[in-house]
Amino acid sequence: MSDVITIDPATGAELGRYPGLDSAGIDSALDDAARAQTAWAEVPIAERAELLRVLGRLLRDEAEEHARLISREMGKPVTEALAEVRKCALTCDYYADHVEEFLADQPVHTEASASYVTYEPLGVVLAVMPWNFPYWQVIRFAAPTLAAGNGGLLKHASNVTGCALAIADVIRRAGFPDGLFQTLVLTGHGQVDEIVADPRVAAVTLTGSEGAGASVAAAAGRALKKTVLELGGSDPFVVLGDADIEKVAPLAVRARFVNTGQSCLCAKRFPVEGTVIDEFEQRVRDLVSALRVGDPLDPATQIGPLAKPSFVDDIDRQVSESVSMGARVIAGGYRIEGPGNYYAPTVLADVTPEMPVFREETFGPVMAIVRADDAAHAIRLADDTRYGLAASVWTANMERGLELGRGIHSGALFVNAVVVSDPRLPFGGVKLSGYGRELSREGMLEFTNVRAVWAMRTIA
Ligand code: NAP
Repeated sequence: MSDVITIDPATGAELGRYPGLDSAGIDSALDDAARAQTAWAEVPIAERAELLRVLGRLLRDEAEEHARLISREMGKPVTEALAEVRKCALTCDYYADHVEEFLADQPVHTEASASYVTYEPLGVVLAVMPWNFPYWQVIRFAAPTLAAGNGGLLKHASNVTGCALAIADVIRRAGFPDGLFQTLVLTGHGQVDEIVADPRVAAVTLTGSEGAGASVAAAAGRALKKTVLELGGSDPFVVLGDADIEKVAPLAVRARFVNTGQSCLCAKRFPVEGTVIDEFEQRVRDLVSALRVGDPLDPATQIGPLAKPSFVDDIDRQVSESVSMGARVIAGGYRIEGPGNYYAPTVLADVTPEMPVFREETFGPVMAIVRADDAAHAIRLADDTRYGLAASVWTANMERGLELGRGIHSGALFVNAVVVSDPRLPFGGVKLSGYGRELSREGMLEFTNVRAVWAMRTIA
């Protein structure tokens, strides 16, 4: 079996080498998971919640160490990595506080002596996860899924294998039973298909690209297993003519450049009404030109390297093709030479819907500004996408923003606020952004058997 190698995106140096599992290793991991989950399903919910509380505490206490590991493996600025680990801890607290309420039987009034809906564990769930929020993506799956009585197997993105092993380790140290949550170091995607087909696995969740989603969902479909897919996004950030541009511009920059632009939830396309577009362009240009690009481990850094060298090539192609089609560069627009996968924070104006920066998901530090004739045109531009993860509308009139936002098909709508995921709210997409939900009660119930119970005291 070959090794999985991790590479520092800021320098190109090798960070770690991890032996991959062979078939016997996978078989024994699946056996352990199935055995642990069967016992775990019988553990009272309050005890499961207590372990989540310990996990939250450990993540909080060790946040700096985990944050450095994230930054080294995938290049996220360390202040953002710290915030990511702390959000994981909060999510553990949230589910510890609410799991009993979320899983409580729901009485239903019928002619039966007793009738209710009960929520039982599904079994062992496989999670295929991406590198961009290497702790958050996993914990937002693991906290509710384990709390609901399931087991978890993690196939993480290969470039964050150190994070994947550290997460399994902290979950074990929190007191969760051996084998209940495991990281599987895999060396080929074919191994994922074999695991999906295995009867010891009940369901699959995947966060990642459309290609990966389609492939894993096809394998799950052949085995008739439930899937949840969280895929790409090209979220619109709609600026209406009545918005206060001085306040909106810094939030637009935050919404686009968080995680060096490598977030499914980043705002990627910016339809702006013509009456305010000049001021918007000038303000974002000044703010973006001042962003500090550098070493992800330096707390002053705002923009780190992209996670893999090929991502610089992808962004460079999307920008240069769009420029050749008429887009105007008002900031950045070039790769930064030297070691590491750096691309200058970029703003393109005069973007039109045919251009790659509008049509495709841009997974890097590139803002695409599109002129809209009026509010209705801005909404049409916003909805002109294959994706449907989230959208935001910026306006002096919240009610009008909510009404206009109904014209955009997405899993989330925010008005006058930067889109973020929040454990209290369901998270997920429509169209090519996927299906199913994570977080909140809805997310927890995805991996339960929603069981109907009907009982008569006497036989009629
Ligand atoms: P990716 O290539 O799809 O990788 C994601 C995960 O899927 C990795 O663990 C990867 O493993 C695995 N994988 C890839 N192809 C596979 C296949 N054919 N069979 C089985 N597993 C496979 O995603 P990425 O390009 O690195 O990540 C960025 C994408 O994820 C973007 O489109 C982004 O929008 C999306 N994303 C969505 C959300 C959301 O919540 N909606 C959140 C974050 C990211 P290897 O690393 O070993 O290839």
